Amino acid sequence: MADKRDYYEVLGVNKSATDDEIKKAYRQAAKKYHPDLHPGDAEAEAKFKEVNEAYEVLSDHDKKARYDQFGHAGVDPNFGAGSAGSPFGQDIDFGDIFSSFFGGFGGRRAANPNAPRRGTDVETVLNVSFEEAAKGCKKTVQYQAITTCKDCNGTGAQKGTTPKTCTACGGRGQVTINQRTPFGAVQTSRPCDACKGRGKIVETPCRTCNGRGQVRRKKTVEVNIPAGINDEQVLNVAGHGNSGTNGGPAGDLHVFINVRPHPIFERRGDDIWCDLPITFTQAALGATVTVPTLDGKSSYDIHDGTQPGDIFKLKGKGVQHLGGRGRGDQYVRVVIEVPKNLSSKQKQLIREFEDSTGDKNYQKRKGFMDKLKDIFG
Ligand code: ZN
Repeated sequence: MADKRDYYEVLGVNKSATDDEIKKAYRQAAKKYHPDLHPGDAEAEAKFKEVNEAYEVLSDHDKKARYDQFGHAGVDPNFGAGSAGSPFGQDIDFGDIFSSFFGGFGGRRAANPNAPRRGTDVETVLNVSFEEAAKGCKKTVQYQAITTCKDCNGTGAQKGTTPKTCTACGGRGQVTINQRTPFGAVQTSRPCDACKGRGKIVETPCRTCNGRGQVRRKKTVEVNIPAGINDEQVLNVAGHGNSGTNGGPAGDLHVFINVRPHPIFERRGDDIWCDLPITFTQAALGATVTVPTLDGKSSYDIHDGTQPGDIFKLKGKGVQHLGGRGRGDQYVRVVIEVPKNLSSKQKQLIREFEDSTGDKNYQKRKGFMDKLKDIFG
């Protein structure tokens, strides 16, 4: 544990970072080290895991508070379950300590430990290709989430055993104290110490989950990626986050979309842009050229006298509007390639051609020369 890097350092944020800043830093780092982009790179994989671990702690207010106070030990899964490394010894439930810390300082109301609580949300990054984002697809998403332990059904008691009713409070979870004060007898109640307010005591903790009733495991879910989704958008998959406790609902899964760049296409909103190299001769004489589109190859008639940088539009060949009908357009920018490595015969032909041209053939150049004359005389 000593060689673990500071979680704030891992995400490159400082301790006063807001939730949004932490989320943003996580997304950038997760995108950078995503295994899809570094196949077989063990170092990137380790970085990716480290980033996810850091985010899991810093995005959860309870865990972050524990981390800020106790460092890595405060968020060790064995912490509080009586591990040798626990700074609090064997039999203190850290959840209890924290509820008393935060409850005591007015941060939060002391929660009933038996009340149903919704699970927290989970965030994951999904890489999709340019075409997948444009046209939509189905993807299997793998991620880590906290789920109810199957071996004990969340009770925390080893299979074949059942939690016992707490004898100190008779299962009520609360003890009543009668106190004599100068103002008379006062009756107060507080959570039972023996069972920490749960009313039940687990004598033989489940070995799978160490009595926590929950385990972290890999989950998979099939997600429909809608056509037209764009880079950095987030899909919400309801109910696929961390499991709740005491019958509370699960949190949501947030799938952060990372669209891989395309070698030819560039997306601007729902329009697609691309460059199309053509020859000097095609530009001068006009030609039928092949243009790549999302739907495959398409042919287009370039008119004679096409200039470098001319842009033509292929209507409706862009990206599907997200959640709507219709598509954007495709814009094709003409790049005219000047021939290189000419043979002496080719050079001779071009010189002859050049000698045959005049102002009529080069209007822009003529206009420019006229302006030069006006300026410099
Ligand atoms: Zn269990």
